[in-house]
Amino acid sequence: MDLVERIQCGDARAAARLITLVENGTAEAVDALKQLYPRTGRAYVIGVTGPPGSGKSTLTDRITAELRHLDRTVGVIAVDPTSPFTGGAILADRIRMQRHSLDEGVFIRSMATRGHLGGLSRSTNDVVDILDAMGKDFILIETVGVGQDEIDIVRTAHTTLVVAVPGLGDEIQALKAGIMEIGDLFVVNKADREGADRTVLEIEMMLEHGESDDGWRPQIFKTVAVRGDGVEALTQGVLEHREFLFEEQGDRRKSKERSRWVFRALLQERLTARAVERMAASGGLEPLIERIAGREVDPHTAVEEVLFRLGL
Ligand code: GDP
Repeated sequence: MDLVERIQCGDARAAARLITLVENGTAEAVDALKQLYPRTGRAYVIGVTGPPGSGKSTLTDRITAELRHLDRTVGVIAVDPTSPFTGGAILADRIRMQRHSLDEGVFIRSMATRGHLGGLSRSTNDVVDILDAMGKDFILIETVGVGQDEIDIVRTAHTTLVVAVPGLGDEIQALKAGIMEIGDLFVVNKADREGADRTVLEIEMMLEHGESDDGWRPQIFKTVAVRGDGVEALTQGVLEHREFLFEEQGDRRKSKERSRWVFRALLQERLTARAVERMAASGGLEPLIERIAGREVDPHTAVEEVLFRLGL
């Protein structure tokens, strides 16, 4: 059997192999992704984001266990846009793996930047498709922090969890920028610490100002991930949001949103690569950069000229 067939049969090693090919940006990967695409669209994608140390991996682990309890299969993608691919990511993988290592219903993979031309968020989408085609019912995407890259990464999830912890006054402020709008569910983890109720209140107040465009009222959950407290209710919250999406819109809006985003990201990536390739081949790239640096031409005019030459 070839790679694509093996992935469709749920073969974890084949999936891991294709993910590596995707990370390396090979033509073989693109070929396989094309073949797999018709087999995707069934998985439910959950994004988990929040400041480092807020307990995202611990929570992801607990939610995975909860979903397994409900007899659903799970894929986990841990994404770190801040670090190049290092031993750290691999080590983290091993630690995570240990907990579910004997469970064939769970597939876990870390991804780091490793010089992605097209951006980590887009290749994360490719990995989502691979796990989807593998037959995983739920896919959890966990990010390391809460920067713009991370927001892009979880933007296309069906349900996004924003994780906060008590006593993070400043970080809550930082969370405001961009992240409050993407949260469908908010988690105040480490609720065993003082100030959890105040953090819940702070989030509630923040949510009052914002308005959701799809009629969903974001919910707030308190958890103690290390003990698993509150995780069952949180998982039920995810399932309720899922029901809401399906009932209200038959999942169409999210699915279109994701398709639009993926298409645009890919188009941008491929157009840029092609334009740069052509110019480099004709020896025009470096002289043009020199002219921009030397203030002989402005970058706007330079790009317009290139687009014109490409017939765009
Ligand atoms: P991440 O960086 O957001 O993925 O956070 P981790 O899941 O790695 O957790 C960071 C640390 O917080 C670890 O030492 C966890 O054991 C600890 N932790 C996670 N959840 C809780 C919790 O609910 N209460 C307490 N006290 N510690 C927790």
